[in-house]
Amino acid sequence: MLSRRRQARYIEVMARPKLELVEVSPRDGLQNEPELVSTAVKLSLIERILAAGFRRLEAGSFVNPKKVPQMADSPEVFAGLPRREDAVFIALALNRKGVARAIAAGAEEINYVFCASDEFSVRNNGGTVAETLAVWPDVVADAKAAGVRIAAVISTAFGCPFEGEVPISRVVEIAERIAQHAPFELSLADTIGVASPRDVVARFAAVGAIMPPQVQLRAHFHNTRNTALANAVAAVECGVAIIDGSLAGIGGCPFAPGAAGNVPTEDLVYMFERMGFDTGVDLDAAIAAARFIGEALGKPTPGMVSRAGGFPKARA
Ligand code: ZN
Repeated sequence: MLSRRRQARYIEVMARPKLELVEVSPRDGLQNEPELVSTAVKLSLIERILAAGFRRLEAGSFVNPKKVPQMADSPEVFAGLPRREDAVFIALALNRKGVARAIAAGAEEINYVFCASDEFSVRNNGGTVAETLAVWPDVVADAKAAGVRIAAVISTAFGCPFEGEVPISRVVEIAERIAQHAPFELSLADTIGVASPRDVVARFAAVGAIMPPQVQLRAHFHNTRNTALANAVAAVECGVAIIDGSLAGIGGCPFAPGAAGNVPTEDLVYMFERMGFDTGVDLDAAIAAARFIGEALGKPTPGMVSRAGGFPKARA
C-alpha cells in the first residue's frame, strides 16, 4: 500500500503526464533562415533555451558548409556549449563523414537523417534511399564505438516537394530497415509542412506497430500550411511523447519561400500545459528566448504566443 503522500504524488503525476519538447531553433530554425547569426548569438540563444527548462536541443549540424553556410560554425558552437550533466546537445548528420565530425566536436547525441523519397534523398543526402540505408549499420557502429547515442529521422515522411505523395508503406519499409540496427529513437518529420492530423495518426500507428518497444517515437512538424499545432496534438494523442519545436517559429521552408517555419515551441508549451501536460518548460522564459532570436534575426517571427503572452493573471 502506498503512503498517503506517495499516493497523492502518484495522482499528481498521472494527472500531469510528461511531454518532452526538443528545441531545434539553433539547428533547423537558423539553418533555414537567410540571415547568418554569429556563434556568440547562437550560444546566447542556447543559454536562454536551457534557462527556460529545455533539456534536449539540436545545437548544430555537420553537413556540407558550402550548402548550408548557416551551420558552418557548428564545431565552434559545440566547443562553446556549457558542460552540463542535465542537458543533451544533439548534432545532425547525413552521412558517415558528418557523424565522424559530430563525434570529434563532442556531440553526445546524433540525429541521423533519412529521406522517404528518392529525389529528395539524392539532393539532400547525396544518395538514394537504398544507398543511404546501406551505410546505416556502419553509422550505428561508429556512434556506438564512440559512446554516442544515435537517433534516426525519416524526413519527407508525409510528402515530398519533388515526388508529391509518399505512401505509408514506403515509410514503414524504411522504418523496418532502420529498426534492424535499432536507434534509441525514431522521428517522423514533416519536412515541408503538408501533414494533416489524420496522416499523423495513420503514420505513427503504422510505424509504432513495427518498431521494437524500446525505440521511442518523436514527431517533427513544420507549420508551412498552419497544421502543425493540430498535428502535434494528434501525435501526442496517439502516444508520441516527444515533440520538436523551434522558438518563435523560425525556420521557414526551403521549398516554399516566405512560408512559416517549424512549429513555434512557445505555442506548444502554452497549449500542452493548458491541456494538463508537464513540459518542464517555463513559458515566460521560452517567450523571452523567442523574442531574443526574433530580434537577432531582425524581423517579425511567426510564433503567436510570443506576441500575445501567456494566460492572463487575475488582477490583484
Ligand atoms: Zn525540419
